[in-house]
Amino acid sequence: MSQKKYLYLFSEGNKDMREILGGKGANLAEMTRAGMPVPQGFTISTEACTQYYKDGRQINEEIMADIYEYIGKLEEIAGKKFGDVNNPLLVSVRSGARASMPGMMDTILNLGLNDESVEGLAKLTSNPRFAYDSYRRFVQMFSDVVMEMSKSDFEKIIDEMKQAKGVKEDIDLDADDMKALVVKFKALYKEKMGKDFPSDPKEQLIEAVKAVFRSWDNPRANVYRRMNEIPYDWGTAVNVQCMAFGNSGNRSGTGVAFTRNPATGEKALFGEYLINAQGEDVVAGIRTPSPISKLHEEMPEVYDQFVEIAQRLENHYKDMQDMEFTIENGKLFMLQTRNGKRTAAAALKIAVDLVDEGMIDEKEAVLRVEPKQLDSLLHPQFDPAALKAAQVIGKGLAASPGAACGQVVFTAEDAKEYVESGKMPKVVLVRLETSPEDIEGMQVAQGILTVRGGMTSHAAVVARGMGTCCVSGCGDIVVDYDAKCFTLAGKTYHEGDWISIDGSTGNIYGEAIPTADASISGDFERFMEWADVARTLKVFTNADNPHDAQQGVNFGAEGIGLCRTEHMFFEADRIKAVREMIVAENVEGRKKALAKILPYQQGDFEAMYKVMGDRPMTIRYLDPPLHEFLPTKPAEIEELAADLGITVDHLNTVIASLHEFNPMMGHRGCRLAVAYPEIAEMQTTAVINAAINVHKETGLNIVPHIMIPLVGEVKELKFVKDVVVATADKLIAEAGVDMKYEVGTMIEIPRAALTADEIATEAEFFSFGTNDLTQMTFGFSRDDAGKFLNYYYDNKVYESDPFAHLDQKGVGKLVEMAAKLGRATRPELGLGICGEHGGDPTSVEFCHRVGLDYVSCSPFRVPIARLAAAQAAIKNPRK
Ligand code: ADP
Ligand code: MG
Ligand code: MG
Repeated sequence: MSQKKYLYLFSEGNKDMREILGGKGANLAEMTRAGMPVPQGFTISTEACTQYYKDGRQINEEIMADIYEYIGKLEEIAGKKFGDVNNPLLVSVRSGARASMPGMMDTILNLGLNDESVEGLAKLTSNPRFAYDSYRRFVQMFSDVVMEMSKSDFEKIIDEMKQAKGVKEDIDLDADDMKALVVKFKALYKEKMGKDFPSDPKEQLIEAVKAVFRSWDNPRANVYRRMNEIPYDWGTAVNVQCMAFGNSGNRSGTGVAFTRNPATGEKALFGEYLINAQGEDVVAGIRTPSPISKLHEEMPEVYDQFVEIAQRLENHYKDMQDMEFTIENGKLFMLQTRNGKRTAAAALKIAVDLVDEGMIDEKEAVLRVEPKQLDSLLHPQFDPAALKAAQVIGKGLAASPGAACGQVVFTAEDAKEYVESGKMPKVVLVRLETSPEDIEGMQVAQGILTVRGGMTSHAAVVARGMGTCCVSGCGDIVVDYDAKCFTLAGKTYHEGDWISIDGSTGNIYGEAIPTADASISGDFERFMEWADVARTLKVFTNADNPHDAQQGVNFGAEGIGLCRTEHMFFEADRIKAVREMIVAENVEGRKKALAKILPYQQGDFEAMYKVMGDRPMTIRYLDPPLHEFLPTKPAEIEELAADLGITVDHLNTVIASLHEFNPMMGHRGCRLAVAYPEIAEMQTTAVINAAINVHKETGLNIVPHIMIPLVGEVKELKFVKDVVVATADKLIAEAGVDMKYEVGTMIEIPRAALTADEIATEAEFFSFGTNDLTQMTFGFSRDDAGKFLNYYYDNKVYESDPFAHLDQKGVGKLVEMAAKLGRATRPELGLGICGEHGGDPTSVEFCHRVGLDYVSCSPFRVPIARLAAAQAAIKNPRK
C-alpha cells in the first residue's frame, strides 16, 4: 500500500473533503453518512489524478495496488464479485472534480459485464432484455468514452435495427434485439480498434479510470476551465459505484430533480424522470421525460421518500439541491446531490427567500450569487410593445430565461466562426439537441433553440449556467442540417434569417424583436442593498459620455473613475478641428485649432458633471498617439487637405512624419503634453470652466480630478502639472469662486510603480491603468497577444488571459508595491483601478485585499463589481 491515502470508501468521507474527493464524491460520502440510500462505492482522489499526470500519464504501481485493494473491499460490501458468472458486481465509473463541470467528463455504466456475466445477470433477474440492454449500453459507453469511437456509429446501428423492426423507441427492442446489438457493437469495436472488446472486468475498470483522468485534459474541459477560472492542477476524482438499475422494468426508472425551480427560484420540487431508463437517457433528450409530480401517481411511496430526502438535503446544505436518483424495482437510490446551478434571477430569489425563511443571514446570501451571473440580468429584455406586436410561430420549453434575437445558424462551429468574423454578430443556434462539443458555439450565441430535450437537457443546463437564453424541446420544428434550414408553422427559415426566442416563456418568433434596457428592482434591489452594506471598496464607472455616465449611475456607480477625453474627439463635428490641430506646424496653428475644440470639450464636461451631481469624476487627458485621429483613405485625405488649404502631398508628408514603429510605446499620453503644453492648457480650461459653470448653475461643489496618463518619471508629471495648475488657478481666481481640484496620475508604466514614492510627491491620487500596466509588464500588446496566447493556454504556460484577469503575481505585485510606496509619501493618497480588471470579480477581490479605495469599470459591470467587492469584504474583512 502506498504511503499516501489515495482511495476512500464512501463511508470514509464527508462533504468537507471536496478538494480530495471532488464534489460528487464528497456529497456521495455525506449522503452515506446521513444514512440515505446510496449505492456504495469508493472514490479515487484528485491527488491520484495529479499523480497520474506527474508520472507521465500513467497510474503508478502503488495506486494500482490500492485500486485492487478497494475493489476487494467493494466486493465484500456488495456481496458480489467482479466477473462472477452467477452474480456479477457491476459498477459505474464517474468523474467528479472539485467544482462541478457538467457534461465535461463522461460516465461509464454497467462496467463488469462480459459474455459470461451477462448470462448470469439475465438468469438472476429473470430479465434477459434488461441484462442485454445493460451490456449493449456498456459496450457503447466504453467505446465512446475510453476509446473515443464515434457515438453516431453506434446510434446508426440502433436506428437500422429499429427501422428493420418497424419500431420507434429503444424500449420497443426486445432481448434478442439487444443481444444482436451487442454482437454488432463488438464487431464494430474490433473493426475500428483492431482488437477484441476487453472482457476482464478489472481491465475494463483500469481503462475507464485512466480515461477519466485523461478527460481532465481534453479540449472541452480545458475550454470550460478557462471560462470558469478552474485551475488545471486541481485534477478530477473518480468514483466507482455499485450500479442501481433504472432499466430493469416498469417499476424502475431514473431522474433528476431540484428542490427549487432553477429557472425562477420558485420554492417547489422541480424535476423529471423516465421509467425503464438509465443514466443519460433523461438528459440526452432522446425520450421526453415526465414531470416529477407524475411520480406521485405512479409510485407514491417512492415519491414520498424522495420528497423527504430532498427536504433533508436542502436543510442540511442550506441551499437549493440538484439531485440525481434511480429507482430499481420500486426501491429508491440517491446517486448525486449538489448545490444546483441556477439562473441569475433564480439565484437572487433563492438567496432572498433563504434569508426570509431564516436559513441563512444576509452576508451568507451575498456569497450565494456568483457576481458574473448578474450580467444576464443587466442586458436588454424584449421591448414589451414590440413583443406584443410580434407573432409567435412556435413554442418550446422556457429552459433558460432572457431575450435573444439573432440570425439562425445550425452548427456550433458556424456560430463561432460567424460571430468572431463579424459576418453575423448576433446568432441564435438551432439544434436538434446540443452536446458538450457545442460549448464554444453556445457561448457566442445570443440564444439556443433545440428541437428535442427537456428542462434538464444538456442545452438547458449549460445555457442556464452561462446565463444564455434557451428554448428547448420544440418538437414542431423540422430541421434539415444539410440544407441549413428549418420549418416551423408552415414557413421555412434559412441560415442567416432573423428570429427571436424568449427563454422566459418558451415563445419563438420568426422576426427580429428590438430589446430594451434592464433595471434593478425587487429581489435584485434588496440583494444589492445587502451587498452595499457589506463592501468597503467603492465602485465607480468608466464613462466618456453622459449616456454611459447615466447608465453607470443607474447601476449604482458612485463616481466616474475614468473619463477618457479622446473619445469625445472622434465625433463628426469636431474631428476636423482635431485633425487641424495635429497637422499644425507651429504653436499658433495648434492654438487656433485647439480654440475650436475647447467649446466642444467644455460642453461635454458640463453635461457629464450634471449627470454625476456631487459624485466625483476623474478626467484623463489626451492619451492615444495622434496619428490615430488622422484619415487613412485617399478620399478623406483629399478632403482634409482641401479643408486645411494645403496640398495632398504636403498632408501626406505630415501623416508620414507621424508614423511610429511602436505607437503603444510612442508619442502618446503625457508625452503629448510635454511636447505640446497647449493641449493640456486647453483641456484644463475646458475642465475648470465646465466645473465653474455647473457650480454656478446648480450650486454643486465640484472638485475636478485631473489625471495625467502614462507617467513614468516624477519630473514629467511635474512639468504637465505645472501647466495645469497655472491655468486652473488663473481661471478660478478670475471667476472669483472657491474651487478645489486635484491632480493625479495613472500608474500604468512599470517605472511609475517602481518610483511611486517619488511620483506621490506630485500626485494627489493614483489610478492603476492595468490594461497598459499589463501589456508593459508582460511586454506584449493587447492587440497582438490574441495571436499567440492560445498556444500558451494549450501548453499550460498561462491559464487565463492576463488582460481579463489581473496577473496578481507579477502585475499585482507592482500595484501592491506602488500603493504602499505612494501612501508612505502621502498617507491620504487616493487609490483606484480603472483597467478592464475593475469589473472582473477575482481582480476586484485583489483590489480589496491590497487596500485600494475604489474600482472603476464599464457601466454594465458595475453591479458585478459591487457584488464582488461585497464578497471580498465578507471573506477578508479589512482591519
Ligand atoms: P455527470 O457528472 O455528467 O452528471 P454522473 O456521474 O452523475 O455524470 O452520471 C450520469 C448519470 O449516470 C447519473 O445521473 C445516473 O443517472 C447514472 N449513473 C451514474 N452512476 C450510476 C450508478 N451507480 N447506478 C445507476 N446509475 C448511475
Ligand atoms: Mg450527474
Ligand atoms: Mg493607458
